[in-house]
Amino acid sequence: MTNEEIWKAALAEIELSISKANFITWFKNTSILSSKDGVVSIGVPNGFAKEWLENKYRSYILRALRNIQGDIKEVTCSISVNPEGLVKERLVDAVLAPKEFGKNKVAQDKSARISLENNLNPKYIFENFIVGSSNELARAACYAVSQNLGKAYNPLFIYGGVGLGKTHLLQSIGNEVLKNDSACEIKYITSERFTSDLVDSIKNQRVREFKEYYGKIDLLIIDDIQFLSGKEKTQEEFFHIFNYLSQLNKQIVLSSDRAPKSIPTLEERLRSRFEGGMIADISKPDLETRMAILKQKAAKNDLEITEEALRFIALNITNNIRELEGALNRVAASAQLTKKSLTVDFVSASLSELISSGKRKGLTYKHILKAVSDFFDITLEELTVKGRKKEVVLPRQIAMYLMRIELNYSYPGIGEKLGGRDHTTAIHAYEKIKKELEINEQLKEDVELLREQLRSLAV
Ligand code: ADP
Ligand code: MG
Repeated sequence: MTNEEIWKAALAEIELSISKANFITWFKNTSILSSKDGVVSIGVPNGFAKEWLENKYRSYILRALRNIQGDIKEVTCSISVNPEGLVKERLVDAVLAPKEFGKNKVAQDKSARISLENNLNPKYIFENFIVGSSNELARAACYAVSQNLGKAYNPLFIYGGVGLGKTHLLQSIGNEVLKNDSACEIKYITSERFTSDLVDSIKNQRVREFKEYYGKIDLLIIDDIQFLSGKEKTQEEFFHIFNYLSQLNKQIVLSSDRAPKSIPTLEERLRSRFEGGMIADISKPDLETRMAILKQKAAKNDLEITEEALRFIALNITNNIRELEGALNRVAASAQLTKKSLTVDFVSASLSELISSGKRKGLTYKHILKAVSDFFDITLEELTVKGRKKEVVLPRQIAMYLMRIELNYSYPGIGEKLGGRDHTTAIHAYEKIKKELEINEQLKEDVELLREQLRSLAV
C-alpha cells in the first residue's frame, strides 16, 4: 500500500469519529510524509495544525493507522509546505469514486469563478435529494421557493439536527434558481462567515460597502443561523439587511439546528421576523429513506454491494445521513484496500467497532475522569480531590456533567466519585454546564471533542 492509500483509509476512519468541522479544519492539507520503523510522519500545513493533531487527535490517528497496519508505534507531525492534501470537501467522493471525483473536480473548477461569489456547490441539487416523511415538508417548501422567489414563503426557515440535509436543501434552492435564471444574484453563506465578513468590514471601515453588496442580492441563503446567537452587533446588522431585502421582496432562506424560539439570545425582533415566514423541520430519516439514500450513493459510485449488506448499514446507522454516508464510505474503502467483496459479513465486521462505540459499550466513570484530566492537562487527583482553583473547577464540572449525560449517574453517585462531594454540588455543576453550553461556543467545542474521545475510548 502506498502512503497515500494508507492515509486515505485512515482519514476515512477519522472522519467518522470527529465532527465534520473539526475534520476539515485539522486534517485539510495533511499527508503522510514518511513511514519507517513504525514511526509515521504526517505533513501538516502550519504550526497550529501540528499542535492540534499532536495534542488532541494523536490517539485517533494512531488508532486509525494501527487498524490498517498493526505495527505503527508512533506518529509525529511536521510542517510541510503545501502537501498534497486528501481532504477535499467530502472524503466520501474521494475514496469511493476516484473517477467520479475527477469529473467533479473539473465541473467545480469551471464553476469556481461563480462560486467565489455565490458559494454554491453544484453537487447539492433537488434531483439527488431523497424524499421521505422526515424531510418532505422541508423539501417541498424549498422547491416552492425556488420556483417562486420572494413570493411563496418569505423568509423560509428550515431547521433540524446535524447531518439531516439542511445544507443540501438550501444549496439546492440556489442551484435550481441559477439553472433557470443565470442572472439572478444569489448568495449562500454560513452565519459564521457572515459574521466574520461583517467584523472585517467594521475593522476596515467598509460597512457601507458590505450593506450595499447585500442590498443587490435577490436570493440570500444563510446557513446555520444558530451561530448568530449572542452576537448582538451582527444580529443588528443582519436585521437591517433582512428588513431592507424583505421590503424589496427579495427572498431569504435560513437554516438552524433548532427552531427560532429555541435559539438563546436571539433578539426578539429577529425571532418574530423568522417566525413571520414559513418554518419547516427535518427529522431523522426512517429505515426506508435510509435504504433509498444508501442505494443512491452506492449506485452513483458503481459500488457492488448486496441488498442485505445495505440493509445492515441502514438498520444500524440511524442517527443522521452524514453518518450513513460515512459508514458506506468506510466499508467501501476497506473493501477496496483488502480486495474483498461487500457482503453482509464483511460489512458487519468492518462496522462492528463503529456500531458498538456508538452505543457507548463499556464506558465507565473512569474513562470520563481520565479523558477530562488529559484534556485539561491536570492530574486525576487535582480533578477529583484538591482545591477550588479556577483551573480545576471547570474541568470538574464538565466531568460531572459528562457522568450525568453519558452514564446517567445519580447526583449523589457523581459527588461520591469526585472526592466525596455533596449531591447539590453535582446538581449545580450539571445545570451550570448545561446552561453554559447554549451560549459558550468554546465550551461546546471542548465538550463535543471530549464526547468524541469517549466514544473511541470505550470500545
Ligand atoms: P446538515 O446541513 O443538516 O448538517 P447536510 O446537508 O450537510 O446536513 O447533509 C449531510 C450529507 O447527507 C450530505 O452529503 C448530503 O448530501 C446528504 N444528504 C442529506 N439528506 C439527504 C437526502 N435526503 N438525500 C440524499 N442525500 C442526503
Ligand atoms: Mg449544514
